[in-house]
Amino acid sequence: MKKYFERLRSTLGPTYDLIRDAHPGRQDIEFCRRILKIMEELGELSEAYLNASSENNYKNKTYADVREELTDMVILVIDMAATRLPGEEHMAQKEFEGMQLDILHKKIAKWNTIKHKIK
Ligand SMILES: [Mg+2]
Repeated sequence: MKKYFERLRSTLGPTYDLIRDAHPGRQDIEFCRRILKIMEELGELSEAYLNASSENNYKNKTYADVREELTDMVILVIDMAATRLPGEEHMAQKEFEGMQLDILHKKIAKWNTIKHKIK
């Protein structure tokens, strides 16, 4: 289990740190605005995918555009994950990240369970 967390941390940690550090002035009050921003980016992702995957691609979107919109979504979601929610303000950074890794582990385990049920 410890090795698993170390692998998750070494994979996600640098990306998480980069995004968290790029937006040090984040404020909890902006959380709702970022939810709306994710919805805006989801719209852009949908538009890019619908056009790139269509023969009638009148907006000339490509799968490179889809990849860019996916990256916008990843950045926003990680940025939101770096935001302390009510009740988490007192946590040390290591405790905060450990909590997120615990949740991530549980969610990945759930995906594995679902995958095995689909067989
Ligand atoms: Mg975008």
